[in-house]
This record gives sequence, structure tokens and C-alpha cells, in this order.
Amino acid sequence: MKAAVLKKPGVFELVELPEPECPPGGLIIRVQTTAICSADVKMIYKGHQALSYPRIPGHEIAGAVAYSDVPEFKGSERVQVAPGIVCTQCRFCRRGVENHCKEIQIIGFTTDGGFAEYLVVTPQGVASGIVNQIPEHLSFAEASLAEPLACCINGQKSLGITRGDVVLVIGAGPIGCLHTMLSRLKGAQKILLADRQASRISSAVSAGADRLIDLTTSSLTRVVAEETASAGVDAIILACAEAEEYPLLDLLAPQGKICIFSGLPGQNPRLALDGNAIHYKEAMVVGAYGCTAEQNKQALELMASGRIKVDWLITHRVSLEDIHLGIELVRNRVGLKTIINF
Ligand SMILES: [Zn+2]
Ligand SMILES: [Zn+2]
Repeated sequence: MKAAVLKKPGVFELVELPEPECPPGGLIIRVQTTAICSADVKMIYKGHQALSYPRIPGHEIAGAVAYSDVPEFKGSERVQVAPGIVCTQCRFCRRGVENHCKEIQIIGFTTDGGFAEYLVVTPQGVASGIVNQIPEHLSFAEASLAEPLACCINGQKSLGITRGDVVLVIGAGPIGCLHTMLSRLKGAQKILLADRQASRISSAVSAGADRLIDLTTSSLTRVVAEETASAGVDAIILACAEAEEYPLLDLLAPQGKICIFSGLPGQNPRLALDGNAIHYKEAMVVGAYGCTAEQNKQALELMASGRIKVDWLITHRVSLEDIHLGIELVRNRVGLKTIINF
């Protein structure tokens, strides 16, 4: 089979590999669509804390069951595969926050992923509940976006966005757009979506934010004051890596929450936050990383019911042979989501 293999940071090659064999109690998936994530680009050029080599990346996967040794799957079912293979027994797994399982294996990071014609799902993967049937009206391409949507569902869990809230999303890429749509669904009264790349602002129009803020020409402080009568926003979602550039606590209303959704640059992950501002405002700073199998199922349901529409996010489609082109599109932030169609 054809596969794109990351041998070490910066050495990413298309190779021919033997077709994988189905492990007892497992599945072989014929991959149909794998979406490219900015985390893939980051790992290809710089590595990633969860990565081991050589590795086939790709964790936003949809395909068809090609071979099954699992009674629930007869073969040829359309499925979306979530990336987290977990132990199911530890305290984090039992609490339903298995994205913090100490034994976690992540498809595309510690086991081979979706930048290949076939994907192996081990019995442990099946037991982790990562294989989801794709609802009838969803395409493979849409289903491949269940994972990033599930990560956003996870990120908003601690934010508790509710009716009447004013939400500021910084970063108008695919993740910022998903957060915008999800905030709207939760009843946010006003959503401000900001980016410092003008083309991102224009392509994010369909996310439905109340105000798009082009940070190359507008001051975030001024716009937030204008839009909230100087009260500040109830939630800030950082869907960008430049968190330290914004006066986050100054933009926040009392009891507001800040979600560090995107990873910060490895060489400079520190954020200077005024402890007294946190104290007096009763502000909350929360993190978000990954998602659970349950959140993947929720994401598929939200898309299948039409409450979250993701098809418009897919702006570029490439073949596996053109994966380097796809990676460059994502790296240069061209359009929104680039997917690999097999
Ligand atoms: Zn991703
Ligand atoms: Zn566990």
C-alpha cells in the first residue's frame, strides 16, 4: 500500500509498504479521507511530544471496513476512527476523561495513522470505542472532521458557554470556525472572531460570527470595549499559538474564562498573567487537549443533524500522492481545511 511516512522531523516520504494484516479481534479500514491538521504539520517539521518514529501520521480519519474480526462489523461499513486508544481501566478512563489515560496510544502519533491506504485498528482500539459508524447523510470528508470538532467540544466543556455570553475566539482557522459555530449552538449572544491574517478573516465569514476582527487593522482592546460596552467578554478561546500577544485578562469580564486551546510555541510556552487580575475578576484559565470517544460520537451527531455544518470548511482536496502539497497548504494557512481523498 502507499503510505506517507515520517522518518524523523523534516523527513517525510511517500513509500510503498506491505498491506497490513488484520490482528485477531481487530479491523482493517480502507481509508477514504484523512483531513490534515496543523498538529500534523507541526510534527512533520518539528516533532511532537507524543510522537515516535518512523510514523504514518494522520488522525482525522474516515474510511470503510475492509476486513473485520469483530462481530459488530460485518465489513464495508462506513466508519470514522477517533485517535485515542486507551486502557479503559485507570481512574481517568473510568471518569470519562480518557484523553488523560496514562497508557494512551494516539493514532497518527504513537501508532500508524491515516496518511496511508489502510489503517489497522487493534482490539484495544475497538475496546476504546474509537470506531464509529458514519450516519447516512454524512460524507467521508465531513466525517473526517469529527475529530477536530470533538476537540472543540472538549475545549468548551470547561468554558460552560451559555445563553447570553459574549465569546471572543482568537484564530479564524478551521478550529476557530468550529468554536464559533459551537458557541452559537450553546446560545452565545455575541461572538467575535479575530485573526491577524486578512484572508483567514474573509474565508471565515460562513462561521457566523457577529463581528470579524482583522487584527492587522483593528485593535482587539478597542473592538472588545465597543462590542461589550467596556464590560469585557465572558470567554476567550485561543485557537492560535500567539497567546502572549494579547492582553487577555484586560479583555475579560468578571468571572470570565480563558481557554488555552492551541499549544503554545515549545521554546516559549510561558504566559504572563496578572495574578491580581485573576483574583479580583474571579477569572478562570483552562486548558484543552484532545478529545474522548464519546465527544467524537457527539461530533458526528451534531454534524449529521445539521446543527453544525462543516462541508464549507473543506477548501482543498488532494490525493495521497500530493500530500506534500497538502501539507504546504496547511502550513501556509491557505484556505481552511485541506483533506486527502483516496
Ligand atoms: Zn487534529
Ligand atoms: Zn486509562
